[in-house]
Amino acid sequence: MDILKKKIGIVGGGQLGKMMILEAKRLGFYVAVLDPAADCPSQSICDKLIVSPLDDPSGYIELSKHTDVITYEWELINADALENLEKEGQTVYPSVRSLRKIQNKYIQNSEMQSNNIPVPRFALVSTTEEIREYGKSTNFGYPLMLKTTTGGYDGKGVAPIKTEADIESAFNELGSGVKELMVEEFVGFQKEISVIASRGITGEMVVYPVAENTHTNTILDTTVVPADISDEISNKAAEIANRVMSVFEGVGTFCTEMFLTADGNIFVNEVAPRPHNSGHYTIEGCFANQFENHIRAIVGLPFGDTSLISPTVMVNLIGQSDGTARLLGLEESYKDPNVHVHVYGKSESKTGRKMGHFTVTGNTADDAVKRADKLKQVLRFIGE
Ligand code: ADP
Repeated sequence: MDILKKKIGIVGGGQLGKMMILEAKRLGFYVAVLDPAADCPSQSICDKLIVSPLDDPSGYIELSKHTDVITYEWELINADALENLEKEGQTVYPSVRSLRKIQNKYIQNSEMQSNNIPVPRFALVSTTEEIREYGKSTNFGYPLMLKTTTGGYDGKGVAPIKTEADIESAFNELGSGVKELMVEEFVGFQKEISVIASRGITGEMVVYPVAENTHTNTILDTTVVPADISDEISNKAAEIANRVMSVFEGVGTFCTEMFLTADGNIFVNEVAPRPHNSGHYTIEGCFANQFENHIRAIVGLPFGDTSLISPTVMVNLIGQSDGTARLLGLEESYKDPNVHVHVYGKSESKTGRKMGHFTVTGNTADDAVKRADKLKQVLRFIGE
């Protein structure tokens, strides 16, 4: 089959799906999207939008009818529905096998641990008494992180337990054990870093430069590349990301989020089986971006160059209030020609919602950070 004739289906039409489509369209691919919202960010540029909840198998069946290869922009989707399609011969990349290993944080961590990829210590818990035991144990101790094994994102599904007194409230916050829970050793990290990597159908791999991330209220705020770390640490992080891709048999672009401690140890926090917010810097920062290489991977094309063109800072534009979305400061920010603003196309702003992002490129990371910091006051998404 002519590769360019392959029809691509994407589960999820949010900003990540939209950015995948922008890259797919460069090569003229047909793209169908499945999303619960008729006004999702992808609606303006996809060839076909199937509006259906992401837990309903019928939407997946419909998507499959329009598609040669299905991918996804989000992991909290119906793996059973995808698996049924896969069994009937539908190509799904990353495979449902990869997806299942990643969807559940306990399985994800276990898989990495048994393959000698460093992760914080962790254990399943179902009662407050069990959490108390781990708090007392010499292996874990306080503080601890309590996490739901499924369904978490942007810090939802994570509750810190600083001392024994927090156990009850953390347990209640995460649903009192209705959902499966795990405890994790708290890593006193110095930096949070992430590595985007892409892997092809036959196992070939490319890795992007290490990104340094800052979160505010557990939502990604800023990514700086190159990360302010030694070459040795950078190589170690890249090697871990490489191993993660192999262990999960990833096809497509994945992100490995990691903690770096002051003594140079790296622990994997979590893996996303898709392009990631912390890889948005690659759009202006690298020769071939994370979405382009994702599309190349799933259709079976060789990868583009992942090297950095120049130091880049990415800042998320998070909704600052509720109402009809309005971006302030665009003209002002474009007085700097090396600023690029991305607007996801969500009509409603909500406090804490990812509405867009911007990047600033510079001769040095310090220079880009300084210019980005100034723009944080200027570029703002509000609701009115
Ligand atoms: P999510 O899937 O919601 O992004 P994460 O597991 O990444 O959840 O946790 C959100 C944030 O909580 C992380 O970015 C990190 O700052 C903090 N965190 C999570 N796990 C740990 C841990 N074991 N030790 C220290 N901080 C943690």
